[in-house]
Amino acid sequence: MPDYKILITDGLDETGQSILRVSADVDDKTGISAEDLVNVIGDYDGLIVRGRTRVTAAVFDAASRLKVVGRAGVGVDNIELDAAKKHHVAVVNAPTSTTTAVAELAFGLLLALAREIPRGDASMKQGDWIKKDLEGVELSGKTLGVIGYGRIGTEVGRRAAAFGMNVLVYDPNVTEDELVHGDAEPVSLQDLFAWSDFLSLHLPLNVQTRDLIGQPEFFQMKDGVRIVSTARGGIIDEAALLDALNKGKVAGAALDVFSKEPPGLTELVSHPRVIATPHIGAQTAEAQSRAAEDIAAEVLAALSGKPLRWRVA
Ligand code: NAD
Repeated sequence: MPDYKILITDGLDETGQSILRVSADVDDKTGISAEDLVNVIGDYDGLIVRGRTRVTAAVFDAASRLKVVGRAGVGVDNIELDAAKKHHVAVVNAPTSTTTAVAELAFGLLLALAREIPRGDASMKQGDWIKKDLEGVELSGKTLGVIGYGRIGTEVGRRAAAFGMNVLVYDPNVTEDELVHGDAEPVSLQDLFAWSDFLSLHLPLNVQTRDLIGQPEFFQMKDGVRIVSTARGGIIDEAALLDALNKGKVAGAALDVFSKEPPGLTELVSHPRVIATPHIGAQTAEAQSRAAEDIAAEVLAALSGKPLRWRVA
């Protein structure tokens, strides 16, 4: 007889499900509505979500047996952490599982911006040959400013150094001593804006970072800067970015994240110098399999009272 009942509401790679099934009954109700979730959650000891399901105070109020919510990935902005604490429900995530996937996407977007790869492909599919219009720039010798030098930012910095870029970083929580491998130089945000040819964002969205990059910040940047954001929508003020693109201050932007998702066909998404992807940072087979394994182990640890590696609430 399994010890626990666990509900999955946003899908979970089979590797994770098989780990769970050793000691739990697992119900996969991927796509369940908010209302149905409130109606069924009372039957479960554990809940595993990705980014779609909103785990609200109403869910916690109805969850009489719930001990743990697992987020198969990094961001927990869809889980009401205060309500979890109030009901003594642990919230855990799998923060290292998606680092490589996001870093590789950010690097792919840097290259795509520098060489206008999507525009070249789209023109070929129209039967055109616009070779003369597609003179790009090289990454080698350019300066990349990395904002947020945690797990993902560090991996992007290492890749940029390997491509011959000078790497500047701004992160209020990283000291010079921590930049042990010497690939990057810590600077103030103002200096990072002033010297960077490319910017890549790898910081969390919170009250301090919302609209961190708006009109005054674009004004401080180099003319023709190119910007990649795989962090979170809301860190860049999208109206200010559109204005900076239209004025030519920003030569190009590659965005995986948006203030509203999906954003629809906005002026920003359809702008000729914007490359847009539908929040695919963590969407690799390897990252999803690692996230599922990590979260399955962590949820079972929480249910059996073992020490937790990644408790966020
Ligand atoms: P992390 O916690 O390892 O690193 C974040 C870094 O940002 C930390 O070092 C922190 O000190 C720094 N930071 C905080 N506030 C800052 C500020 N005001 N200015 C500059 N730096 C600041 O996190 P991570 O694993 O590297 O992930 C970074 C972000 O990437 C996450 O917060 C998440 O939102 C985003 N992410 C996106 C996807 C995607 O699918 N596109 C997937 C995973 C993560």
